[in-house]
Amino acid sequence: MASESILPLGAASIRAATVRERHAAALWYDLAMKTILFLAFLMVLLSSVLPAASKTFDMYLIDTEGGKSLLLISPSGESMLIDAGFPGSDDRDAKRIAEAVKAANLKQVDSLVISHYDGDHVGNVTATAARVPIKTFYDHGDAVVKDPRTTESVKAYLAIAEKAKRVVVKAGDKIPFKGIDVLVVTAAGKHITTPVKGGGAPNPYCKDTQPMKWTRTDEDNSENGNAVGLLFTYGKFRMLDLADLTWNREMELMCPNNPIGSVDLFMVSHHGNDISNSPALVDGLHWRVALMNNGARKIGAPSVLKRLREAPGMQALYLSHYSVNGATENPPEEFIANIVQDWKDPADGKWLKVSVDQNANITVTNGRTNVSKTYKK
Ligand SMILES: [Zn+2]
Repeated sequence: MASESILPLGAASIRAATVRERHAAALWYDLAMKTILFLAFLMVLLSSVLPAASKTFDMYLIDTEGGKSLLLISPSGESMLIDAGFPGSDDRDAKRIAEAVKAANLKQVDSLVISHYDGDHVGNVTATAARVPIKTFYDHGDAVVKDPRTTESVKAYLAIAEKAKRVVVKAGDKIPFKGIDVLVVTAAGKHITTPVKGGGAPNPYCKDTQPMKWTRTDEDNSENGNAVGLLFTYGKFRMLDLADLTWNREMELMCPNNPIGSVDLFMVSHHGNDISNSPALVDGLHWRVALMNNGARKIGAPSVLKRLREAPGMQALYLSHYSVNGATENPPEEFIANIVQDWKDPADGKWLKVSVDQNANITVTNGRTNVSKTYKK
């Protein structure tokens, strides 16, 4: 017997109404859930086909007092570090790298590219890896310089890299970095022979560049001359970073034809050393913004500062440090991250942060003043 039959008439109709309401509520719930699921599906679909216009490619040029350490963060949050600065000084540079990693909200470094085996690039890997987990290591292969100090640095580096994952790169290779194209343009003394898109035209600045003759050591066959150089492409944005590549190696890459074409951002070579940064490179790239990783007393050569300032298309030149060598050739202080000359001064160790979008608009923030300036394409 149905339970309704023993209920008074009024109660039965109330019960029936409640059942109808519950049924209607269930239908609404079902419809709402289906709509939410459909919208979520639509958002995933759109995010995979539309360019992420609001996402930026970020970088921190970390102050390693004239060494090199550049932290790169792809729009998807993947990270790449190029070199780890100097060893010693109470792990100064390892601490500064860890600070930049934290500021970028990263828990690890996905890739560490060691451009070459000089102490200001590879000497600090042990102290850095002790503070920040590093997944994959990239380098140019065997050291070309066999002096005791380099051999020691390479041994310490390999002990860490080979325990994780080590990849030897050659010119023409790509380094995986989600959302960014990373082309190895130089490595182990070789360079790309096929021009990239937009490159390959005769370089008019080769006529202003004479080969250098070395009187003491053969600089082109040093570790510097074998450096890993990288071209980064993100939408319309392009950046070239040749680490410490030397003058005649630059000419081999850039003359008589320029295989790169123009770039938006130029990482000044070799801490602003004048045995690098030839007119064939500096003028031939037609960059808009340049960053120099010099120290207060480590390079930042006056002739290089002058060439950069007068380069065609130049919009801004930023320095890690005021260059004592550069004297009157220094840019105004707003373009310099560190103006103190003692690394123990609490005001020292400031980075330059760069944020670029796919339209090649470049925003540079001076870590000392926190003032940002945007350079539009
Ligand atoms: Zn160096």
